[in-house]
Amino acid sequence: MARIACPHCHQPISLAKVTASRGNGFSAQIQCYHCRAWLGRHVILTVLKVLGFYAAVIAGFVGYFVDGVANIVTPIIMISLILTGVTHLMDHLIVIDAPDDDATIED
Ligand SMILES: [Zn+2]
Repeated sequence: MARIACPHCHQPISLAKVTASRGNGFSAQIQCYHCRAWLGRHVILTVLKVLGFYAAVIAGFVGYFVDGVANIVTPIIMISLILTGVTHLMDHLIVIDAPDDDATIED
């Protein structure tokens, strides 16, 4: 969790060394200290992941305390957990603003 790779310059970033950040919550962004690119999360994927997680938890509670809804609740839990898992795999840092000296960085 502490070490991630910059999607722009592909160098490892230690979150403890990141000094520049902006925004908060789902739209929080950090600045890569190697290439100065602003990095953030895919907001829609992050929201879907959180929604899927809570939908599964709520459906689990409803299924446990309410009789006769298992045939509705069970597929909701399964779909929600799949949604959470898929969006978690897809949810990684993306480049929000590339640095101005983009041409100097070679892949
Ligand atoms: Zn970088």
